[in-house]
Amino acid sequence: MTLKNEQTISQAANQSKKISLAKFAGFCYGVKRAVETVKKLKADNPDKNIFVLGELIHNAHVIAELEKLGIKTLYEIPEKGDGICVIRSHGESPEVIEKIRHAGFEIVDLTCPDVKKVQQKAVELAKEDYFVVIVGKSEHPEVIAIKANAKLWSENVVVAVSPEQLKPYEKQIKAHKRVGVVVQTTQRITTLNSVVEYLTSVAKEIHIANTICQSTSMRQSEAKELAQNSDLMVVVGSKKSANTTHLAEILTDITKTIHIENAEELENYKDLTENSKNISITAGASTPQDVIENVIKTLSVFRS
Ligand code: SF4
Repeated sequence: MTLKNEQTISQAANQSKKISLAKFAGFCYGVKRAVETVKKLKADNPDKNIFVLGELIHNAHVIAELEKLGIKTLYEIPEKGDGICVIRSHGESPEVIEKIRHAGFEIVDLTCPDVKKVQQKAVELAKEDYFVVIVGKSEHPEVIAIKANAKLWSENVVVAVSPEQLKPYEKQIKAHKRVGVVVQTTQRITTLNSVVEYLTSVAKEIHIANTICQSTSMRQSEAKELAQNSDLMVVVGSKKSANTTHLAEILTDITKTIHIENAEELENYKDLTENSKNISITAGASTPQDVIENVIKTLSVFRS
């Protein structure tokens, strides 16, 4: 099946039921670039070891496919390395990059250009003595790397995903001349807004860099629009993926929404899907096309 995005995938004879697919469903350019580049690296260097530090994307099938090609996932950096070590789209801290180099690996950096921009902005703000606030989840690899880069230049760098998480720093924020804000590329705009609203009440001067990436913004806006006219939204993608989880959270506020990792999980929602007249599908930035296609096929069978 070839997917034609932003279209009605199927419509029953009585024209009363339909399944639609979002235009911005599936791989974003940063993920696409990462997957295509590692495959090409292996093809161009068949005799070299190719490693990726951490899972390249949040999808077990893609990781298994890469393993088959001889591209291995590293979960920690060995003392001695041989071959190429790839930095995935989330980016890494300067310390980790140095460790990889020190182990003896050749480095191929596939940090998404949009993530690089956030790192650079955070560094710029830290260098200019702003109190830097990174809006995001502190345990997310992208956020860890942004923070580590900025921390090289200033001690005044914190991560928060809500005003509550910033309250312990209120005294420092009030004492600082100015506050600079950057945001994890896959965050919700409402999360950024709530943090900014709080900062406005305590900071003397604020500089806000809305670094939510364009791919995330477009995916979220389109899905919100689709949700207004759907009685069920199906979000496809890993539950470990930040952008997919945020997508499901946003849509839940608008209409009935289910978040599934694959077509098999639809079995748990058979009644819901059969009783919905207008189903729309969207998917996270790390969801491969074949996983989306299987969801469409399964939904069509349920409904026939
Ligand atoms: S979600 Fe945005 S920042 Fe992340 S890899 Fe994709 S394009 Fe890059």
